[in-house]
Amino acid sequence: MEGVTTPFSMEEVRGVVEESDGNKSPGPDGFNFAFLKGAWEVISGDVMAFMHEFHVNARLPKALSSYFIALIPKSFNPQALGDFRPISLLGSMYKLVAKVLTKRLCLVMDSLVSKNQSAFIKGRLLVDDVLVINEIVDWVKKAKVKCEIFKVDFEKAYDSVSWSYLDYMLRRYGFDEKWRSSVRACVFAGSLSVLVNGCPTEQIDICKGLKQGDPLAPFLFILVAEGLGALMNKAVELGFYKGIQLRSCGVNISHLQYADDTLFVGEVCVENLWTTKAILRWFELISGLKVNFFKSKLFGINVEDDFLSSAAAFLKCNVERLPFIYLGLPVGANPRRMATWNPVLEVLQKRLASWKNKYVSLGGRVVLLNSVLAAIPIFYLSLFKMPVGVWKKIVRLQRKFLWGGVASTSKISWVNWRDVCRPNNEGGLGVKDLRIMNISLLTKWKWRLLSEGNSIWKFVLRDRYGGGESGVSWMSRSLPTNKVSPWWNDLMVVGLVGGVERLQHFFFKKIGNGDETSFWHDVWVGTQPLKEEEELCDMLLNILLPIQLSHTKDEWRCQHSNGGLFSVRALYCYLAGIIVPPIVLDLELVTDLGFVWKSFAPSKVIVFSWQLLLRRLPTKKNLFKRGILSDDSKKICVLCPMNIECEGHLFGWCDFASTLWRKFFIWFGWDGAVPRDPLEIFQKFRKTTGIGKRLKGLLAVWHVVVWAIWKVRNNVIFNSIVPVVEDVFQRIITLSWKWLREKKMGGSCSLYEWKTYPLDCILR
Ligand SMILES: [Zn+2]
Repeated sequence: MEGVTTPFSMEEVRGVVEESDGNKSPGPDGFNFAFLKGAWEVISGDVMAFMHEFHVNARLPKALSSYFIALIPKSFNPQALGDFRPISLLGSMYKLVAKVLTKRLCLVMDSLVSKNQSAFIKGRLLVDDVLVINEIVDWVKKAKVKCEIFKVDFEKAYDSVSWSYLDYMLRRYGFDEKWRSSVRACVFAGSLSVLVNGCPTEQIDICKGLKQGDPLAPFLFILVAEGLGALMNKAVELGFYKGIQLRSCGVNISHLQYADDTLFVGEVCVENLWTTKAILRWFELISGLKVNFFKSKLFGINVEDDFLSSAAAFLKCNVERLPFIYLGLPVGANPRRMATWNPVLEVLQKRLASWKNKYVSLGGRVVLLNSVLAAIPIFYLSLFKMPVGVWKKIVRLQRKFLWGGVASTSKISWVNWRDVCRPNNEGGLGVKDLRIMNISLLTKWKWRLLSEGNSIWKFVLRDRYGGGESGVSWMSRSLPTNKVSPWWNDLMVVGLVGGVERLQHFFFKKIGNGDETSFWHDVWVGTQPLKEEEELCDMLLNILLPIQLSHTKDEWRCQHSNGGLFSVRALYCYLAGIIVPPIVLDLELVTDLGFVWKSFAPSKVIVFSWQLLLRRLPTKKNLFKRGILSDDSKKICVLCPMNIECEGHLFGWCDFASTLWRKFFIWFGWDGAVPRDPLEIFQKFRKTTGIGKRLKGLLAVWHVVVWAIWKVRNNVIFNSIVPVVEDVFQRIITLSWKWLREKKMGGSCSLYEWKTYPLDCILR
């Protein structure tokens, strides 16, 4: 606890400023963190004087602690106050103080908070709780044990926290007066104004609650919620509440908390109901957090309907049936059923529909696929194994989105999906393969089983599937499948793809003192357990030569990782390399495609060039091949009749293109003939110039030229604009100059300098 009240150091405060998001809306003072970052050199002295004063006096001037509430509509056409989401806009200096305090609080959180609480604490994940409750539900179903789950709904949890109770909890945790007065200065003060049509109302003084958007609030809230957990633990200890135990002397699960998302789990008896009601009422009286029983839900497993409905009447809540959603993930659902995945597919479809009518380039769609669309299923994929049917459906949605532009030719997948999913340096677009992502994310559970310290989810798994020397002996698959949950089953076979075990010997022991490693049964030297080594005696001496015992503990490590520590990303790359069939393209083309990305051109242009080098653009020849153009005579190039329009022609030996390229070769001062093929021209650009800035700058010019040729071609077809080579040449020079400037390339060269000495400019 000592560290939390020492004076603030310059380093500490600057660190907080640097890692803060500068793009948030400013509060009443009109400044956000972008200002603090930008002006840090000038204002750091004043900021530190302010921080020092706060440390000594634990006071904030009223001007700094007052804040705005903006109402953001949740729906398109809001009618009632409930249709708005209130967002607090806090002053920048207040935020700075709160962030510095929060950072200090984080350091001690883990030691303060019980294992039943998983929110906002390093090393504890949201999915952990969902796993625990799912394993319990599956176990009670199979063991035919009666079980009830009560899902508690707190009314406006943040807004109703009692200040005196918060202060009491801080004291009980052993925070000294100094720290508590700092928290009081931040939380127990301030007045808010509501922004109505952009104008603040009169100030309203507040007397309870935590501020939405206050960096301190989530952590203080957890300390408040711990009071409820403590009451539950006491009730279990005194025998007033009976939780669920998977084996005698195993862990007793009575409740799970994620911030204010709370589940009570227990045996089915009248006593449990009384205790539930009493504890929630007590907690309301002391903390101010009121339970909305009407919105709370009761679930029963192996419980008679009569008992359940009278229990619900007693608690004044509703009875509902499994499965239900907890923390955004299903509980009690079978992950192998399509219906379990419907919410994911629905959200994906909804997002896709919202972009359907907007023009987004292919490059933009790649970004959307990887960031937004992939993020939605990943939440599910980090816990459940995705059935093949779901994977196929998601891929179909992704493909449709990737190739569905606004053009009438939208339904064609121009490039094989497998190649789309390859990494950039292997000729692909780098779209994530969700099936491989799924394996990587699930393998992380195995890693966590081996390497992380004790936590509730591990206790539950150990109680259910038996312990080994390292807690859970998942390495041996001796359990009958009808005794284990679908989740455990899936985890056991997670490395299995196409009938081949891809992750055999993925994990291995790094020997410290040897205490936790079995000489014969563990893999700790070589690639298999010693009991499986043949001709052992001969080899043993040689094998053991490099091993030296030390005083450190034995540790688990894994292959294909960053320094032996597990990483989802590293495993994904490794698996993608072995699971996806090798590319059928020419190796040199793959190298070229890798270079396409090494440029300062915008991503939409790069993806276009990628499609061009693969010869998969909607050129007339390709459209004819796919049956979109039916008339053979329409395949002709619009820039020089008599030739068929394909990538090689349009961007290479077409009169227009070759004249244009010649101008660029002259501009760069390159001797020799211009190659006829666009790929050869690309190679000329990438091979003459070396590496780094110069390469990126030159390749950007290549990208602008092909991009411009495509625009010229479309302008002839759709707008009947006849191009003039010299004009296009000048336009490209200007455009490339702008791109380089945007990426801060070419120093601050002027357009004149760029026109005259392009190579010198790139090198600046
Ligand atoms: Zn032509």
